[in-house]
Amino acid sequence: MTDAEQLPGVPGFDQSGDTGFDTLAVRAGNIRSEHGEHSEVMFLTSSFVFRSAAEAAARFGGTDKGNVYSRFTNPTVRAFEERLAALEGGERAVATSSGMAAILAMVLGLLKAGDEVVTSQSLFGTTNVLFDKYARKFGIVTRFVPLADLSAWREAITPATRLFFLETPSNPLGELVDIAALAELAHAHDILLAVDNCFCTPALQRPLAMGADLVIHSATKYLDGQGRCLGGAVVGRDKLMEEIFGVVRTCGPSLSPFNAWVFLKGLETLRLRMDAHSRQALALAQWLEAQPQVAAVHYPGLQSHPQHALATRQQRGYGGVLSFEVKARPGETGREAAWRFIDATEVMSITANLGDAKTTITHPGSTTHGRLSPEAKAAARISDGLIRIAVGLEDIDDLIADCSRGFAAC
Ligand SMILES: *Cc1c(COP(=O)(O)O)cnc(C)c1O
Repeated sequence: MTDAEQLPGVPGFDQSGDTGFDTLAVRAGNIRSEHGEHSEVMFLTSSFVFRSAAEAAARFGGTDKGNVYSRFTNPTVRAFEERLAALEGGERAVATSSGMAAILAMVLGLLKAGDEVVTSQSLFGTTNVLFDKYARKFGIVTRFVPLADLSAWREAITPATRLFFLETPSNPLGELVDIAALAELAHAHDILLAVDNCFCTPALQRPLAMGADLVIHSATKYLDGQGRCLGGAVVGRDKLMEEIFGVVRTCGPSLSPFNAWVFLKGLETLRLRMDAHSRQALALAQWLEAQPQVAAVHYPGLQSHPQHALATRQQRGYGGVLSFEVKARPGETGREAAWRFIDATEVMSITANLGDAKTTITHPGSTTHGRLSPEAKAAARISDGLIRIAVGLEDIDDLIADCSRGFAAC
């Protein structure tokens, strides 16, 4: 998968003639002050000074494009936006204070009361609440369909549908949807397609090249890569992004320049890290699949994954997140076995976060998906014995040894 020869087959990665991804990751959106610093400067200032009253008036009036106030103009935040837009192959990015703020800014900027959204049942839990509770309060109705079922997406369309929203691969089961096919369906009905690209990042998947209109990011995850800062972004065409920029400027879910600086540096090593996360996760998934106490492993990089071919066609790598089901002892619940496994690990951190150099382990059934009813859990195939691992950058042998401790306990 990480073979260079394979890249031209993956949409968005045939860059012959253009500046390469790795160069953009290091160089795009570079800013340099009159001091000539080599590393990007952090503009930790809330406002900017004008040389005259006339300049102030021109800045406020928009005839002078210079900086005004860091809620909507900050050079470090702009550098992060430019670098991310270049990596996603989008015209423009708008940064936000978190991934959820990015989704909210998109909803406020592009939808109105009476509009409808179709999204998948396998969504980040908080995104589900944003659509189903908060957007609904303002008259935006959301329909939930099985992620991979194109005909369900088609049947959910009404004359009021304005947006398709999805994550691929999904959390925690690693299900995929064919982005190009869904983009075609969306555009045939004048619907926008937004892809939350948090799990793959542009290093592994470029949804805009496959026809998506918008890409959403929680920069908190892999763009940072070391679990330090919260942030988010929306990427897409200028015309759409102008609406989203207006929301951030007016409503204020703005990214801090400090966090933007951390993400800017994170992007420089993004591809190296994503390749390493993918390599490690594949090795761990293959090892887990061979263990007698495992009932199933869910990872798009495995030959046994039902959408392995689609993952290979659509992604440059398979990502760092896998999940697996442990077998319970007779008379025990899957949850007891899963909890014993998790508690026996010593290297991995028990936390629901992901996209960190540190490996994290979690029991979705009682944490991220704990609020779901038993029926909803069954529909989402979140079994009692399911464990999710977001594979980090420790030595793979130490991670395997940690899992061996888990199996010895369960
Ligand atoms: C974490 C996450 C979000 C939300 O991002 P925050 O930065 O925590 O607000 C959205 N989508 C996915 C897929 C996530 O994993």
